[in-house]
Amino acid sequence: MPDRWRSAVPDDWPRLVDGHCHPVSSEDLPDEAFVGYLGGHAAVDAMSGVALRRWCSPVIDLEPHASLEAYLERRRALGADEVNRRLLSRAGVSDLVVDEPTGTDVAATVAAADARSHHVVRLEDLAERLLADGTEPGALADAVRVALDEDGAVAATTLAGVQAAAVPGLTAGPMLGTHPPLDATFAELAAGAEPAERREDPRWHTWLAFAALDAGLPLQVPLGHVLAHGGPVLGDPRAIVPFLRASADRGAAVVLVNPYPHHQVAAVLARAYPHVHLDLGRITRAGGDLSARVVADVITVAPFSRLLYASDGFGIAEHHYLAAVLFRRALGGVLHELVVRDEVDRATSDRIIRATSRDNAMRVYGIDGSDDGR
Ligand SMILES: [Zn+2]
Repeated sequence: MPDRWRSAVPDDWPRLVDGHCHPVSSEDLPDEAFVGYLGGHAAVDAMSGVALRRWCSPVIDLEPHASLEAYLERRRALGADEVNRRLLSRAGVSDLVVDEPTGTDVAATVAAADARSHHVVRLEDLAERLLADGTEPGALADAVRVALDEDGAVAATTLAGVQAAAVPGLTAGPMLGTHPPLDATFAELAAGAEPAERREDPRWHTWLAFAALDAGLPLQVPLGHVLAHGGPVLGDPRAIVPFLRASADRGAAVVLVNPYPHHQVAAVLARAYPHVHLDLGRITRAGGDLSARVVADVITVAPFSRLLYASDGFGIAEHHYLAAVLFRRALGGVLHELVVRDEVDRATSDRIIRATSRDNAMRVYGIDGSDDGR
C-alpha cells in the first residue's frame, strides 16, 4: 500500500459529504454506554473493535492499537466535548445530512465537525407531530404536503423498514406498497388508529413515501442490519423492488441506506433503476480495511454516479470518524489497485473518488457547491 493510504486522511482527497448520519452525544458516557453505542461487546470483538483501536487511538494521543481499556480511560480524561471535536473535525467532512431523531440535538455535532448541516425529515414523525399539534385527520394530507414544501429538508426518510422489525414476518417490502392510498384512506388511518397501529399499517408508510417523492424530496430507506425488538432484521432490498419500480417515474431519488449484507443486490438495483442510489454507511466503518471487499463488490456492478458516502454515525463521534477514514481507505485502495493494473486511468479514478465522496450527494440532496470541497 502506498504512503498515501497510511495516513488517516489523504490530504488530496476531496472533503466528504456525509449523506446519512445522526447526532452524537455531548455527555460523558459511562464505559458500558460507549460500548453499547459501538455495537456491544460483539462489535468490540470484531473488525469494528480493531478499527477503533487502530484509527481512533492516535486522535486521542494514544499509540495505534491501544487496548480498549486504555482507550476508554483516555476518552474519560479528555471528556466528550474534546473527543467529539477532535474526531469530527478531523474526519474531513464538509457537509452532514442529518437524520435527527426526536429529542436529539444536532447543533453540538455540527459545531464540533466544523461542517454545514442539512436536515432530513422523518415522515412518520412529521405526521404524528402535525396530529399532536391539532391538525384534523381530514386535513392531514394537505398539511403534510405543505410541511414537506416548507420544511427545508434536503431529504425525507421512512421508518417503514425499521418498523417492519416490530411486525413478525414483515420486511420493508410489504411496508412500502406500489400505489399511494387515497387521501381519504390516509385520513381514516389518522382518525381511527392509535399511533402504534398506524405504524404497523403499510398504507401509512406508503402514502407518506409517495408524498415525499412527489414533493421532490429524495427518500432515504434504511434497510441494513437493524437491531430491533431483540433480533436482527436483515432488510433485503429485493423486498422493495415493486416499490422501486412504481416510484421510478416520480422524479426523485430513492437512497437505499446501509444495504449490507445485501449490498450486491442493491448495486444491481441501482444499475436497473436510474433513481436508485445506495450508500455505504455502517459497513465501511464496521468492517475495517476488509470493507474494501464490499466496496469492490458494489462498484463491480453499480454505476459510479449512484454510490454515496455516508457514515450512519450516531451517538459517538468514533462512528463518524471511522467511516470517513475507512471509506477512503477502502475506495482508495480498490481504485489504486485498478490504476496499478492499468484497468483505470488516474483521471477516471479521481473522478470516481470525487463523485462518490461528494458530487453525487450534492446532486441528489440539492446541496449547493459554493465550497469546492478542498
Ligand atoms: Zn441511520
